[in-house]
Amino acid sequence: MSKKALVCGAGGFIGGHLVKRLQQEGYWVRGIDLKENEYGNNHADEFVIGDLRDPLISEAAAQGGIDEVYQLAADMGGAGYIFTGEHDADVMHNSVLCNVNMLNAVKNAGIRKIFYSSSACMYPEYNQLDPDNPKCAEDSAYPAAPDSEYGWEKLFSERLYLSYYRNYGIEVRIARFHNIFGPQGTWTGGKEKAPAAMCRKAAEAEDGSFIEVWGDGKQTRSFLYIDECVEAVRRLMDADFTGPVNIGSEEMIAINDFAKMAIEISGKKLSIKNIKGPTGVRGRNSDNKLIREKLNWAPVQTLREGMEATYKWINEQVMLTRKQAETVS
Ligand code: NAD
Repeated sequence: MSKKALVCGAGGFIGGHLVKRLQQEGYWVRGIDLKENEYGNNHADEFVIGDLRDPLISEAAAQGGIDEVYQLAADMGGAGYIFTGEHDADVMHNSVLCNVNMLNAVKNAGIRKIFYSSSACMYPEYNQLDPDNPKCAEDSAYPAAPDSEYGWEKLFSERLYLSYYRNYGIEVRIARFHNIFGPQGTWTGGKEKAPAAMCRKAAEAEDGSFIEVWGDGKQTRSFLYIDECVEAVRRLMDADFTGPVNIGSEEMIAINDFAKMAIEISGKKLSIKNIKGPTGVRGRNSDNKLIREKLNWAPVQTLREGMEATYKWINEQVMLTRKQAETVS
Protein backbone atom coordinates (compact mmCIF):
# COMPACT_ATOMS: atom_id res chain seq x y z
CA MET A 1 0.00 0.00 0.00
CA SER A 2 1.28 3.48 -0.80
CA LYS A 3 2.39 5.76 2.03
CA LYS A 4 0.18 8.71 2.93
CA ALA A 5 1.62 12.19 3.41
CA LEU A 6 0.04 15.42 4.61
CA VAL A 7 1.66 18.59 3.22
CA CYS A 8 0.75 21.73 5.19
CA GLY A 9 1.25 24.84 3.10
CA ALA A 10 0.67 22.78 -0.08
CA GLY A 11 -0.65 25.85 -1.91
CA GLY A 12 2.68 27.60 -1.40
CA PHE A 13 5.87 27.57 -3.43
CA ILE A 14 7.88 24.79 -1.77
CA GLY A 15 4.74 22.88 -0.71
CA GLY A 16 3.47 22.70 -4.31
CA HIS A 17 6.77 21.27 -5.55
CA LEU A 18 7.01 18.85 -2.62
CA VAL A 19 3.54 17.44 -3.32
CA LYS A 20 4.59 16.70 -6.92
CA ARG A 21 7.79 15.01 -5.79
CA LEU A 22 6.01 12.84 -3.19
CA GLN A 23 3.54 11.70 -5.81
CA GLN A 24 6.35 10.80 -8.20
CA GLU A 25 7.64 8.59 -5.41
CA GLY A 26 4.26 6.86 -5.14
CA TYR A 27 2.83 8.61 -2.09
CA TRP A 28 -0.84 9.44 -1.70
CA VAL A 29 -0.83 13.13 -0.75
CA ARG A 30 -3.29 15.35 1.09
CA GLY A 31 -2.51 19.06 0.87
CA ILE A 32 -3.87 21.79 3.10
CA ASP A 33 -3.55 25.56 2.73
CA LEU A 34 -5.51 28.79 3.02
CA LYS A 35 -5.52 28.89 -0.77
CA GLU A 36 -4.70 26.86 -3.84
CA ASN A 37 -1.38 27.44 -5.57
CA GLU A 38 -1.91 30.50 -7.77
CA TYR A 39 0.38 29.18 -10.52
CA GLY A 40 -1.45 25.90 -11.04
CA ASN A 41 0.98 23.71 -9.09
CA ASN A 42 -1.92 21.81 -7.49
CA HIS A 43 -1.41 18.08 -7.74
CA ALA A 44 -2.46 16.72 -4.36
CA ASP A 45 -4.76 13.67 -4.38
CA GLU A 46 -6.90 15.56 -1.91
CA PHE A 47 -6.62 19.32 -1.37
CA VAL A 48 -8.25 20.94 1.63
CA ILE A 49 -8.74 24.68 1.90
CA GLY A 50 -8.30 25.20 5.62
CA ASP A 51 -6.76 27.41 8.26
CA LEU A 52 -4.24 25.62 10.48
CA ARG A 53 -4.61 28.33 13.12
CA ASP A 54 -7.83 26.51 13.95
CA PRO A 55 -6.99 23.41 16.06
CA LEU A 56 -10.07 21.52 14.86
CA ILE A 57 -9.03 21.94 11.23
CA SER A 58 -5.50 20.77 12.05
CA GLU A 59 -6.91 17.70 13.85
CA ALA A 60 -9.13 16.85 10.89
CA ALA A 61 -6.25 17.22 8.42
CA ALA A 62 -4.21 14.64 10.36
CA GLN A 63 -6.91 11.93 10.24
CA GLY A 64 -7.18 9.02 7.83
CA GLY A 65 -3.98 7.03 8.35
CA ILE A 66 -1.37 9.68 7.49
CA ASP A 67 2.19 8.31 7.77
CA GLU A 68 4.20 11.54 7.42
CA VAL A 69 3.51 15.24 7.84
CA TYR A 70 5.46 18.03 6.14
CA GLN A 71 4.73 21.29 8.00
CA LEU A 72 5.61 24.18 5.68
CA ALA A 73 2.69 26.51 6.42
CA ALA A 74 3.91 29.88 7.67
CA ASP A 75 3.08 33.55 7.34
CA MET A 76 6.14 34.57 5.37
CA GLY A 77 7.50 36.64 2.53
CA GLY A 78 10.66 38.33 1.30
CA ALA A 79 12.51 41.23 2.94
CA GLY A 80 9.68 43.63 2.05
CA TYR A 81 7.35 41.58 4.23
CA ILE A 82 9.39 40.22 7.14
CA PHE A 83 12.05 42.90 7.74
CA THR A 84 9.92 46.05 7.85
CA GLY A 85 8.39 45.28 11.27
CA GLU A 86 4.90 46.00 9.94
CA HIS A 87 3.80 42.35 9.97
CA ASP A 88 5.59 41.11 13.11
CA ALA A 89 2.51 40.31 15.18
CA ASP A 90 0.87 38.39 12.33
CA VAL A 91 4.07 36.55 11.43
CA MET A 92 4.63 35.35 14.99
CA HIS A 93 1.02 34.68 15.91
CA ASN A 94 0.00 32.91 12.71
CA SER A 95 3.06 30.72 12.25
CA VAL A 96 3.33 29.64 15.85
CA LEU A 97 -0.34 28.59 15.89
CA CYS A 98 0.15 26.45 12.78
CA ASN A 99 3.09 24.72 14.50
CA VAL A 100 1.41 24.20 17.89
CA ASN A 101 -1.78 22.90 16.30
CA MET A 102 -0.06 20.54 13.87
CA LEU A 103 2.17 19.05 16.55
CA ASN A 104 -0.85 18.37 18.75
CA ALA A 105 -2.76 16.93 15.82
CA VAL A 106 0.16 14.62 14.99
CA LYS A 107 0.40 13.50 18.63
CA ASN A 108 -3.35 12.87 18.93
CA ALA A 109 -3.56 10.99 15.63
CA GLY A 110 -0.55 8.80 16.52
CA ILE A 111 1.43 9.91 13.44
CA ARG A 112 5.06 8.86 13.68
CA LYS A 113 6.95 11.52 11.71
CA ILE A 114 6.83 15.26 11.05
CA PHE A 115 9.10 17.54 9.02
CA TYR A 116 9.45 21.21 9.96
CA SER A 117 10.80 23.94 7.70
CA SER A 118 12.82 26.37 9.79
CA SER A 119 14.90 29.13 8.25
CA ALA A 120 18.43 30.52 8.17
CA CYS A 121 16.81 33.69 9.54
CA MET A 122 17.11 32.14 13.02
CA TYR A 123 20.92 32.55 13.01
CA PRO A 124 22.34 35.34 15.19
CA GLU A 125 22.87 38.68 13.53
CA TYR A 126 26.29 39.13 15.21
CA ASN A 127 27.71 36.27 13.09
CA GLN A 128 26.45 37.84 9.87
CA LEU A 129 27.91 41.35 10.00
CA ASP A 130 30.82 40.67 7.63
CA PRO A 131 29.43 40.12 4.11
CA ASP A 132 32.52 38.12 3.10
CA ASN A 133 32.62 35.83 6.10
CA PRO A 134 29.21 34.95 7.56
CA LYS A 135 28.95 32.03 10.00
CA CYS A 136 25.92 29.78 9.72
CA ALA A 137 27.06 26.44 11.12
CA GLU A 138 24.19 24.69 12.89
CA ASP A 139 25.89 24.91 16.29
CA SER A 140 26.32 28.70 16.01
CA ALA A 141 22.63 29.35 16.79
CA TYR A 142 23.24 30.35 20.43
CA PRO A 143 23.41 32.80 22.16
CA ALA A 144 20.34 33.54 20.08
CA ALA A 145 20.01 36.90 18.34
CA PRO A 146 17.99 36.64 15.10
CA ASP A 147 17.47 40.00 13.39
CA SER A 148 13.73 39.53 12.78
CA GLU A 149 10.64 38.29 14.60
CA TYR A 150 10.26 35.78 11.76
CA GLY A 151 13.64 34.31 12.81
CA TRP A 152 12.66 34.27 16.49
CA GLU A 153 9.46 32.40 15.72
CA LYS A 154 11.43 29.82 13.72
CA LEU A 155 13.88 29.34 16.59
CA PHE A 156 11.07 28.98 19.13
CA SER A 157 9.26 26.50 16.91
CA GLU A 158 12.40 24.42 16.38
CA ARG A 159 12.50 24.06 20.16
CA LEU A 160 8.81 23.24 20.24
CA TYR A 161 9.35 20.38 17.73
CA LEU A 162 12.35 19.10 19.68
CA SER A 163 10.25 19.10 22.87
CA TYR A 164 7.57 16.95 21.24
CA TYR A 165 10.33 14.60 20.12
CA ARG A 166 11.76 14.34 23.66
CA ASN A 167 8.48 14.11 25.54
CA TYR A 168 6.16 12.27 23.12
CA GLY A 169 8.60 10.30 20.97
CA ILE A 170 7.40 11.87 17.69
CA GLU A 171 10.14 11.55 15.07
CA VAL A 172 10.93 15.12 14.11
CA ARG A 173 13.03 16.35 11.19
CA ILE A 174 14.09 20.02 11.13
CA ALA A 175 15.66 21.83 8.17
CA ARG A 176 16.90 25.40 8.09
CA PHE A 177 16.21 26.56 4.52
CA HIS A 178 18.49 29.18 2.98
CA ASN A 179 16.68 31.21 0.26
CA ILE A 180 14.90 28.69 -1.91
CA PHE A 181 13.94 29.87 -5.40
CA GLY A 182 12.61 28.70 -8.73
CA PRO A 183 9.59 28.69 -11.05
CA GLN A 184 6.07 28.83 -9.60
CA GLY A 185 7.16 30.93 -6.64
CA THR A 186 5.76 34.31 -5.59
CA TRP A 187 7.18 36.82 -8.09
CA THR A 188 5.17 39.98 -7.45
CA GLY A 189 2.90 41.64 -4.88
CA GLY A 190 5.34 42.36 -2.03
CA LYS A 191 5.94 38.86 -0.66
CA GLU A 192 8.46 37.87 -3.36
CA LYS A 193 12.08 37.20 -2.45
CA ALA A 194 15.29 38.47 -4.06
CA PRO A 195 15.71 35.96 -6.95
CA ALA A 196 12.13 36.45 -8.15
CA ALA A 197 12.32 40.21 -7.62
CA MET A 198 15.55 40.47 -9.68
CA CYS A 199 14.07 38.41 -12.50
CA ARG A 200 10.82 40.40 -12.49
CA LYS A 201 12.58 43.75 -12.49
CA ALA A 202 14.85 42.69 -15.37
CA ALA A 203 11.92 41.20 -17.30
CA GLU A 204 9.80 44.36 -16.87
CA ALA A 205 12.56 46.90 -17.57
CA GLU A 206 12.87 48.73 -20.89
CA ASP A 207 16.15 48.09 -22.68
CA GLY A 208 18.61 50.87 -21.78
CA SER A 209 16.98 51.67 -18.41
CA PHE A 210 17.85 50.51 -14.88
CA ILE A 211 16.63 48.22 -12.14
CA GLU A 212 16.44 49.15 -8.46
CA VAL A 213 18.28 47.06 -5.87
CA TRP A 214 17.68 47.49 -2.13
CA GLY A 215 20.71 48.50 -0.02
CA ASP A 216 24.26 49.09 -1.24
CA GLY A 217 24.26 45.75 -3.06
CA LYS A 218 27.32 44.51 -1.16
CA GLN A 219 25.24 42.33 1.16
CA THR A 220 25.78 38.65 0.36
CA ARG A 221 23.48 35.62 0.17
CA SER A 222 23.27 32.14 -1.29
CA PHE A 223 20.26 30.68 -3.09
CA LEU A 224 19.12 27.11 -3.58
CA TYR A 225 17.06 25.87 -6.52
CA ILE A 226 13.73 24.30 -5.60
CA ASP A 227 14.40 20.79 -7.01
CA GLU A 228 17.56 20.54 -4.92
CA CYS A 229 15.66 21.64 -1.83
CA VAL A 230 12.98 19.01 -2.29
CA GLU A 231 15.62 16.31 -2.82
CA ALA A 232 17.33 17.30 0.45
CA VAL A 233 14.01 17.36 2.34
CA ARG A 234 13.20 13.83 1.20
CA ARG A 235 16.67 12.59 2.15
CA LEU A 236 16.34 14.15 5.60
CA MET A 237 12.90 12.65 6.14
CA ASP A 238 14.19 9.15 5.32
CA ALA A 239 17.41 9.49 7.33
CA ASP A 240 17.91 8.61 10.95
CA PHE A 241 18.79 12.21 11.83
CA THR A 242 16.65 14.86 13.51
CA GLY A 243 18.60 18.05 12.71
CA PRO A 244 18.30 20.98 12.72
CA VAL A 245 20.36 20.98 9.54
CA ASN A 246 21.00 23.62 6.87
CA ILE A 247 19.46 23.04 3.45
CA GLY A 248 21.07 25.61 1.22
CA SER A 249 23.80 26.38 -1.28
CA GLU A 250 27.34 27.47 -0.46
CA GLU A 251 27.62 29.52 -3.69
CA MET A 252 27.59 32.96 -2.04
CA ILE A 253 27.08 36.08 -4.15
CA ALA A 254 26.84 39.84 -3.51
CA ILE A 255 23.38 41.16 -4.30
CA ASN A 256 24.59 43.58 -6.99
CA ASP A 257 26.37 40.69 -8.74
CA PHE A 258 23.20 38.70 -8.43
CA ALA A 259 21.28 41.53 -10.08
CA LYS A 260 23.92 41.61 -12.85
CA MET A 261 23.32 37.89 -13.38
CA ALA A 262 19.58 38.48 -13.85
CA ILE A 263 20.34 41.35 -16.26
CA GLU A 264 22.73 39.21 -18.30
CA ILE A 265 20.16 36.43 -18.55
CA SER A 266 17.54 38.92 -19.74
CA GLY A 267 19.84 39.89 -22.60
CA LYS A 268 19.01 43.58 -22.04
CA LYS A 269 21.30 46.53 -21.46
CA LEU A 270 20.35 47.62 -17.94
CA SER A 271 22.15 49.40 -15.13
CA ILE A 272 21.67 49.02 -11.38
CA LYS A 273 20.39 51.76 -9.09
CA ASN A 274 20.94 51.06 -5.40
CA ILE A 275 18.17 52.50 -3.26
CA LYS A 276 17.17 52.42 0.42
CA GLY A 277 15.18 49.35 1.42
CA PRO A 278 14.96 46.50 3.92
CA THR A 279 17.96 44.18 3.47
CA GLY A 280 18.31 41.91 6.52
CA VAL A 281 21.76 40.79 7.67
CA ARG A 282 24.95 41.92 5.85
CA GLY A 283 26.09 38.44 4.90
CA ARG A 284 24.65 34.95 4.85
CA ASN A 285 25.80 31.68 3.33
CA SER A 286 24.83 28.10 3.96
CA ASP A 287 27.34 25.92 5.80
CA ASN A 288 26.86 22.42 4.36
CA LYS A 289 29.41 20.48 6.39
CA LEU A 290 26.80 18.76 8.56
CA ILE A 291 24.42 17.84 5.74
CA ARG A 292 27.30 16.43 3.67
CA GLU A 293 28.30 14.28 6.61
CA LYS A 294 24.84 13.11 7.64
CA LEU A 295 22.97 12.86 4.33
CA ASN A 296 25.76 12.83 1.77
CA TRP A 297 23.93 15.68 0.03
CA ALA A 298 25.19 18.74 -1.82
CA PRO A 299 23.54 20.81 -4.57
CA VAL A 300 24.44 19.68 -8.08
CA GLN A 301 23.59 22.68 -10.24
CA THR A 302 24.95 26.21 -10.34
CA LEU A 303 23.09 29.36 -9.29
CA ARG A 304 23.20 30.55 -12.90
CA GLU A 305 21.40 27.43 -14.17
CA GLY A 306 18.65 27.88 -11.58
CA MET A 307 18.33 31.57 -12.40
CA GLU A 308 17.99 30.85 -16.13
CA ALA A 309 15.03 28.53 -15.47
CA THR A 310 13.49 31.04 -13.04
CA TYR A 311 13.92 34.01 -15.38
CA LYS A 312 12.29 32.10 -18.22
CA TRP A 313 9.21 31.35 -16.08
CA ILE A 314 8.94 34.89 -14.64
CA ASN A 315 9.39 36.47 -18.06
CA GLU A 316 6.43 34.38 -19.26
CA GLN A 317 4.35 35.62 -16.29
CA VAL A 318 5.27 39.24 -17.06
CA MET A 319 4.27 38.82 -20.72
CA LEU A 320 1.02 37.11 -19.75
CA THR A 321 0.14 39.88 -17.29
CA ARG A 322 0.82 42.54 -19.96
CA LYS A 323 -1.36 40.74 -22.47
CA GLN A 324 -4.20 40.46 -19.93
CA ALA A 325 -3.92 44.19 -19.10
CA GLU A 326 -4.06 45.06 -22.83
CA THR A 327 -7.17 42.91 -23.32
CA VAL A 328 -8.94 44.65 -20.42
CA SER A 329 -8.10 48.21 -21.55
P1 NAD B 1 4.91 30.24 0.76
O1 NAD B 1 4.43 31.49 1.40
O2 NAD B 1 4.84 30.12 -0.72
O3 NAD B 1 4.13 28.99 1.39
C1 NAD B 1 3.61 28.98 2.68
C2 NAD B 1 2.15 28.57 2.57
O4 NAD B 1 1.60 28.47 3.88
C3 NAD B 1 1.29 29.59 1.81
O5 NAD B 1 0.70 29.00 0.68
C4 NAD B 1 0.27 30.04 2.82
O6 NAD B 1 -1.01 30.30 2.29
C5 NAD B 1 0.24 28.86 3.77
N1 NAD B 1 -0.29 29.24 5.08
C6 NAD B 1 0.04 30.34 5.81
N2 NAD B 1 -0.71 30.39 6.91
C7 NAD B 1 -1.53 29.31 6.87
C8 NAD B 1 -2.57 28.84 7.72
N3 NAD B 1 -2.91 29.50 8.82
N4 NAD B 1 -3.21 27.70 7.38
C9 NAD B 1 -2.90 27.04 6.24
N5 NAD B 1 -1.93 27.45 5.40
C10 NAD B 1 -1.27 28.57 5.70
O7 NAD B 1 6.39 30.00 1.29
P2 NAD B 1 7.50 28.94 0.84
O8 NAD B 1 8.59 29.69 0.23
O9 NAD B 1 6.87 27.82 0.11
O10 NAD B 1 7.99 28.45 2.27
C11 NAD B 1 7.56 27.24 2.87
C12 NAD B 1 8.18 27.11 4.26
O11 NAD B 1 9.61 27.17 4.17
C13 NAD B 1 7.78 28.22 5.23
O12 NAD B 1 7.63 27.67 6.51
C14 NAD B 1 8.94 29.16 5.20
O13 NAD B 1 9.06 29.91 6.39
C15 NAD B 1 10.10 28.19 5.02
N6 NAD B 1 11.28 28.83 4.41
C16 NAD B 1 11.24 29.20 3.11
C17 NAD B 1 12.36 29.81 2.55
C18 NAD B 1 12.39 30.24 1.10
O14 NAD B 1 13.42 30.73 0.67
N7 NAD B 1 11.32 30.08 0.33
C19 NAD B 1 13.50 30.05 3.33
C20 NAD B 1 13.49 29.67 4.66
C21 NAD B 1 12.37 29.04 5.19
